[in-house]
Amino acid sequence: SMASPALLMRVVASAYSVAEKAATIVRNVMSAGDLGIVEKAGPNDLQTKADRLVQMSICASLARKFPKVTIIGEEELPTDDVTEDLIEDGHCEEILKKPCPAQYTGIKEEELVIWVDPLDGTKEYTEGLLDHVTVLIGIAYGGKAIAGVINQPYYNYEAGANAVLGRTIWGVLGMGAFGFQLAEAPAGKHIVVTTRSHSSALVNECITALNPDHVIRVGGAGNKIIQLIEGKASAYVFASPGCKKWDTCAPEAILHAVGGKITDIRGNSFQYNKEVKHMNSAGVLATLRNYDYYASRIPNTVKESLVP
Ligand code: AMP
Ligand code: MG
Ligand code: MG
Repeated sequence: SMASPALLMRVVASAYSVAEKAATIVRNVMSAGDLGIVEKAGPNDLQTKADRLVQMSICASLARKFPKVTIIGEEELPTDDVTEDLIEDGHCEEILKKPCPAQYTGIKEEELVIWVDPLDGTKEYTEGLLDHVTVLIGIAYGGKAIAGVINQPYYNYEAGANAVLGRTIWGVLGMGAFGFQLAEAPAGKHIVVTTRSHSSALVNECITALNPDHVIRVGGAGNKIIQLIEGKASAYVFASPGCKKWDTCAPEAILHAVGGKITDIRGNSFQYNKEVKHMNSAGVLATLRNYDYYASRIPNTVKESLVP
């Protein structure tokens, strides 16, 4: 008989199903109509009932299956009141059947760190910009993002009543990324995607210096990485603190799995070990192709304004 699947593939296969349950919770909270909005740091830093329930669901479900894995979620919540209906114990068979990349077959539970953003794009969720929203489960080993799941609960929501709502994108370094169609951004055009609700003078100064043909302002780090891998934008540029490790871990794994690159604005790679500072203080620069073109055009004044 076949050897049992490697831990990493079991974690990704479970994270896939856990993210699908999360998406159902995100949609159910919205259709029930009571978002239960709480301000965290201020009016541009919100938490809803969906953020809370989804984090409980993801963290409790994964912790039950993988008790020695470190799981770090965005929301600060009491851990004791997770009801059984929030637990997902399924997994994606198709993922489990794929061979684990050789360099990851020996990974042990205590060596993994899972970064969870239960709902990325909360501000946009509360404003009805539903396709900006994603659920992010990033998996790190040795300080590196090596696998990730991005669920987009409202993918296709503007396509009409017959369209299938939602999708799950997943990827593993050395294996690739699945659940979407990889596409290149238009050749010879510079299309920058950036924040919609967390702009600043520095954010705009940096974009202006890149002299883009077009700027797309949308919510969510997950959503912006999807714009890169589907060829809608050529660079994700965010010259500001604000984005955290749970925003970038799953997107980084998926982007790197298809040959892209993500760093802070100064060109430093992100670390995802459990002791790391949560804030990505020096912003984000990400591309599927031509990373060096954008990196070389970030002004030094902008780089010096952002301290890692
Ligand atoms: P955005 O591109 O504005 O959607 O930001 C990407 C991610 O970083 C989201 O999870 C935001 O909540 C977070 N983020 C970015 N800037 C800030 C900020 N100034 N305050 C709080 N969260 C932020
Ligand atoms: Mg987020
Ligand atoms: Mg969030």
